[in-house]
Amino acid sequence: MKKIIKCPDCHHPIEIDLNTLGVGDIIECQYCGTELEITSVDPLKTKIVEEEK
Ligand SMILES: [Zn+2]
Repeated sequence: MKKIIKCPDCHHPIEIDLNTLGVGDIIECQYCGTELEITSVDPLKTKIVEEEK
């Protein structure tokens, strides 16, 4: 099952394949490079991964 979310940073659609991804997995926006952690699958929710520098 695939779902589309909008990148919270650049608002481009990002496709998430829930057959291979689940809660706790990190996806990266191909457009702006923002990393998103999947926090919930149903409903699908993500949060931006804050990088510590
Ligand atoms: Zn983005």
